[in-house]
Amino acid sequence: MTIFDFFARPALARPEVDAAAALRVADGHYGVTGDVAELGSNQDRNFHVAASDRRVLLKFSNAAFGRAELEAQNLAAAAVAAAGIRAPQCLPALDGQTVLAVDSPGGPLRVRMLEYVEGEPLSGAGAFVTADARRLGALSARVALALAPLRHPGLAQRTQWNLRDAALTVRLLAGAIPDAERRRRVTTVAEAAARALDPLRADLRTQAIHGDLTDDNIVVGASDGEWGVIDFGDVAESWLVAELAVTCAAVLHHNPRDPLVILEAIAAFHDVLPLADAELDALWPLIQLRAATLVASGEHQVALEADNRYAAQNRLQEWRSFAVAADLDVNAMTALIHWRVGGRTDPLELGAPVALLADASSAVVLDLSTTSRDLDGGVWLEPDAERRLAAAHQLSVTAWGEPRLTRAVVRSRRHTSTVPLGIQLSSADALAVTAPADGTLRRVGDSTVLETAGYDLWIDGLHNGSSGAVAAGTPLGTLAPHPARLSVQISRARGGRLPFFVPPALAEVGKLVSPDPAPLLGLTSRLGEPEPAEVLATRDAHFATVQEHYFAEPPLIERGWREHFVDTQAQTYVDMVNNVATAGHAHPRIVAAASRQWALHNTNSRFHYSAVAEFSRRLSELAPASLDAVFLVNSGSEAVDLALRLATVTTGHDTIVAMREAYHGWTVGSDAVSSSIGDNPRALETRPSWVRLVNAPNTYRGTHRGPDAGPRYLADLDADFARWDAEGLSIAGFIAEPVYGNAGGVMLPDGYLAGAYGMVRERGGLCIADEVQVGYGRLGSYFWGHEQQDAVPDVITIAKAMGNGQPLGAVLTTRAIAEAFAVEGSMFSSAGGSPVSCVIGSTVLDIMRDEALVDNARDVGGHLKSRLEDLGRRHPLIGAVHGLGLYLGVELVRSPETLEPATAEAYAVCEALLEEGCIVQPTGDHHNVLKIKPPLVITRESVDYFVDALDRVLGGIPLG
Ligand code: PMP
Repeated sequence: MTIFDFFARPALARPEVDAAAALRVADGHYGVTGDVAELGSNQDRNFHVAASDRRVLLKFSNAAFGRAELEAQNLAAAAVAAAGIRAPQCLPALDGQTVLAVDSPGGPLRVRMLEYVEGEPLSGAGAFVTADARRLGALSARVALALAPLRHPGLAQRTQWNLRDAALTVRLLAGAIPDAERRRRVTTVAEAAARALDPLRADLRTQAIHGDLTDDNIVVGASDGEWGVIDFGDVAESWLVAELAVTCAAVLHHNPRDPLVILEAIAAFHDVLPLADAELDALWPLIQLRAATLVASGEHQVALEADNRYAAQNRLQEWRSFAVAADLDVNAMTALIHWRVGGRTDPLELGAPVALLADASSAVVLDLSTTSRDLDGGVWLEPDAERRLAAAHQLSVTAWGEPRLTRAVVRSRRHTSTVPLGIQLSSADALAVTAPADGTLRRVGDSTVLETAGYDLWIDGLHNGSSGAVAAGTPLGTLAPHPARLSVQISRARGGRLPFFVPPALAEVGKLVSPDPAPLLGLTSRLGEPEPAEVLATRDAHFATVQEHYFAEPPLIERGWREHFVDTQAQTYVDMVNNVATAGHAHPRIVAAASRQWALHNTNSRFHYSAVAEFSRRLSELAPASLDAVFLVNSGSEAVDLALRLATVTTGHDTIVAMREAYHGWTVGSDAVSSSIGDNPRALETRPSWVRLVNAPNTYRGTHRGPDAGPRYLADLDADFARWDAEGLSIAGFIAEPVYGNAGGVMLPDGYLAGAYGMVRERGGLCIADEVQVGYGRLGSYFWGHEQQDAVPDVITIAKAMGNGQPLGAVLTTRAIAEAFAVEGSMFSSAGGSPVSCVIGSTVLDIMRDEALVDNARDVGGHLKSRLEDLGRRHPLIGAVHGLGLYLGVELVRSPETLEPATAEAYAVCEALLEEGCIVQPTGDHHNVLKIKPPLVITRESVDYFVDALDRVLGGIPLG
């Protein structure tokens, strides 16, 4: 059969067999009965039968598989078992046959009963470490050796899993990938890989292989930890090296964050069964083809059978490993593979080389690191930044191995090539370059390569270079004056080199293959990047861990700029979550204002200085006319605490009414009125008696739903107040966010706040609007959240945005309320309203005015919301898009009917978005709403990048 016949057959949906039918076959044909349970499979139906004396597997194969193919599979399992590896042996039926034909409602099927290989699949284990990868590689080689002598007509089967036909398979199945962009990427990667394979085909050994030696098909014995091999359904004649390629793709699948672990699997395979050069060259293209086949076939299977949860669940991981395989350059990977099997992992001894330049001791090492002062203020984004910095020195050299900020790319996936595997020299005058060791000089394209005994030295930018045999100390050519540069890279991968810049995933091994050339100049290596994991360990050891961090493996972030973050690997992220950084990260005007004020003084508000007068004036001008008294504190929690005290002191009442699912802070008072079970799972049972909670007026998932739910919520509120009146409670105040920030930006129903405020005031209470999150311009169309509700509070609390991250909070209220508070004595907060804080507060307001940030929140936020709503129409996981301006929430649900919160999916989306270069986090009681509240300086380009990334991620996230 040809592969065309294979695809011309009816689609390979799994046979229609249920557990009852399976039991009938087991009993009738094999005399086996017991508990039957179905196991997952892409194309077969597998049932586990637990009889009293043994456990077996009953396998109903798709009718597409002929008898010969199933017999070949049985022989392969026997050959593997004969090599001492546990493998499921076929058990004959009562009539002695090993392959039965039975009828089913969908047509004839073939059935086999196999031994059940006890143990847990390896896929359940954690990320592979080196030893696991080595063991897997060695097992792959042992299986290939066991199968090498096998000959059988059934081995000629052509399936979509045979990598010899993978390019065609991808072409035929890729149509099932719904997203055009992804479809294009999969076919492009597959075609490039197929082109790379073409010249190698004739040199690849052919034999029977298992063809699916993955962590799913390896079971770990419970008692002995021995690895067994199952599922021989893809046994076929193929390329020997395809066996290893499949295994390597599984390692990637298992451990996408550390793709180079595959080098260990390859080295271990090679130790058992040495591969030829052509086979090593074919490996990476085959891994890419395997990854492309997995996604194309997975999408095809999901399109065919919407209820195949096994295929649907695998999709995300498959896309992730495809992305890793597609991103890693074939030449770089092939160079690494050759280097690794060559066994050259020892440090390179350069001996005592002749210096490359006559005198480099005066060279200045440029600081292009992610924390370089020379690159502050956004200078790193200027295209000529590197050359400008170099031009400031007579002779300069760049650092090797240190992620370069100047190579960071905003709005990019977390895979930018930022780590230099060489150095670059720049000089004001022309300088002679000499050979550091004996060798042979060659020209490769525009590069000069000096092949020495221990390494190749690649030089780019050499003028007047020669060629042929050279002795150490011989002139090689000249380094022209700047702006020219000389790039120097050592390569221990003979015949090729890694790119000069590699992504962080390749850096560790890359640095072994291309060690630092600085010693060739008589300079010492300068290194010492902090490792994210080490810093995290220090944090965990000393910082109370209940102060959680985002992400399972958080990037180490030491720089920001506008709406971008940059980690220490010079990878960037669009920051969709920092509502505190109103004016963006590292705004030069804030840097200058804070630094200037620190140079003058920083003291407290009992002293007389203009900054506190000026900032208070500006705040009261922003507030509703009646709220003309300002208190300055240091945080939202403090502001809320003070607001609650204002309410109880000035009214003489004691009960505070707050909303369910709200968060107002961590101090004793603000925590008491916080009821979000997302932040504190015991919140609802543990509120003190002076706090009463009202129904959350959430029109999406609350008790009353839809646009006209407002009056029903108000009726509930009325009933609550009547009950509290009857209990004799005296209402001191009511606190609420005017847009439901903590629930993910859910808008309150129209008229709700005005109605609620009326009921509170009737009882002599104060109305507190907690504008800490949603106020201060973020809603775009309104400066304050309460304006959207057409209601004027008695007290406003603000913080976060007003200081752009400087600890700064405020309470705005009427002069009468502020003065009535005097019965409690004076009010003083040591740092609240300090000169530095006030100067920063005023500068933030200047920036908001000069850069029209409220308008930006309205325009870019409006655009973002409509794009998210559009995504909502295409991705069923999106239940609703809440919010206004740049305070938005994307609520993820498993079903539009039940609104079952998609919490696990929300976290998976956030982790996947991190890889796409976006930072976003879930919020709400169920942690299922993506809270979207970026710095107000965010551009349309950045929100578009975020929405496109979310679109890609949602395309790969299976439901439930
Ligand atoms: N109120 C609201 C609505 C908040 O969202 C927060 C913080 N998330 C606070 C108050 C507390 O502010 P802070 O963290 O500055 O104490």
